[in-house]
Amino acid sequence: RAVLDRIEAVDARIGAYLTVDAEGAMAQAEAADQRLAAGNAVPLTGIPLGIKDLLCTRGLRTTCASRILENFIPPYDATVITRLKAADAVLVGKLNMDEFAMGSTTEHSGFQVTRNPWNLDCIPGGSSGGSAAAVAADMCLGALGSDTGGSIRQPASHCGVVGIKPTYGRVSRYGLVAFASSLDQVGPLGKSVTDCAILLDAIAGHDPKDSTSVPEPVPDFSDIATDGLAGVVVGIPREYSTAQGLDPQVGRAIEAAVKTIESLGARCVEVSLPHTDRAVAAYYVIAPSEASSNLARYDGVKYGFRDKTQSDLMQMYRSTRSQGFGPEVQRRIIIGTYALSAGYYDAYYGKASQIRTLIRNDFTTAFESCDAILSPVAPTPAYPIGETLDDPLTMYLSDIFTLSANLAGIPGISVPCGFSDAGLPIGLQIMGRHFNEAMLFRIARQFE
Ligand code: GLN
Repeated sequence: RAVLDRIEAVDARIGAYLTVDAEGAMAQAEAADQRLAAGNAVPLTGIPLGIKDLLCTRGLRTTCASRILENFIPPYDATVITRLKAADAVLVGKLNMDEFAMGSTTEHSGFQVTRNPWNLDCIPGGSSGGSAAAVAADMCLGALGSDTGGSIRQPASHCGVVGIKPTYGRVSRYGLVAFASSLDQVGPLGKSVTDCAILLDAIAGHDPKDSTSVPEPVPDFSDIATDGLAGVVVGIPREYSTAQGLDPQVGRAIEAAVKTIESLGARCVEVSLPHTDRAVAAYYVIAPSEASSNLARYDGVKYGFRDKTQSDLMQMYRSTRSQGFGPEVQRRIIIGTYALSAGYYDAYYGKASQIRTLIRNDFTTAFESCDAILSPVAPTPAYPIGETLDDPLTMYLSDIFTLSANLAGIPGISVPCGFSDAGLPIGLQIMGRHFNEAMLFRIARQFE
């Protein structure tokens, strides 16, 4: 009830929710109360959560913040939703995002802009901007987001909350509306590292319905070692401190965070990720290519929006997709279709895939001499709404620190580590070896 009241009081100004399921949430809360009274509570019993609107929820509208799915009501739950329900959580509603998760600002939603709770004139980050803003503004106690190139970590950083992108394959993608299937991962955003660990415990694990989910055992993530960082070696990538466009305020906050980590007993070493400067180019070929293929299903025939005024089939496709998709999504489809055109494979998708392997190898080498790698999440604190709306290239370049983890498939967490001069939160990114989320939680926990 408190969370619903809070949404009522502040969401008109923030714009985090696309759908609030007040009735459903109260019914789930009452069931949770009963379980509590019966002494059967588990860690998530009765905990109100928000869900990024690209995870299918049975009977509850799932739009991907796109006009083309405006009235889509899924007939099934995503596996992560099934697991949260089984863990007694209360699902409050569906959260705004950049359309189909394409963007870094949540301005590219087909329905509304979400504002940063720390400064309503600024972006909350994206694409899981609704998730981060809702957690930051107490409109839920935790949320699920998705991260294809930074979409959990970057909004978490801009909104002063914690967000983790798990290892690719750690969490089922069944029922996650696909953007770029080889990069997409579902993960939690929360107010604390421990909250994120509890949420990841609930959603992680092998799922026979997702052939890329990995049958690795899931440790108890919430059992985080609290005995300092003695014996831990953290790597600082040489290439990141000279990255183009790094705001000195972010640089200072990260340096201070590194000192804190050292003071707790960790040893810092310099590492090298030499192909970092190719990550943006590789990602912005691979992600749009996969997107152009995944989004071919929205044709006005099978489900979703259709321009019913057209009688000619080709005209109907064209008009449905022109009206149903926003400008950023259309841009990606066009880039991806071009890159995958016959005869262009070697020059674009093939080349980008080779760079992807080099980036993955960079991490393998770096992790021979350290347990985790520290970096900024975003090159700048949250910036004013509108600043990159007509400048997609600048928006793409701001993904420089987060894309590599998706290309390599490794886990990355964002944890608040300081503030800009204007009082906006700054996040520290910690990346780790495949399936070593526990190390990220252990280091991040020191910042609570
Ligand atoms: N900002 C990146 C993009 O626009 C990443 C988005 C994401 O992780 N979903 O593609």
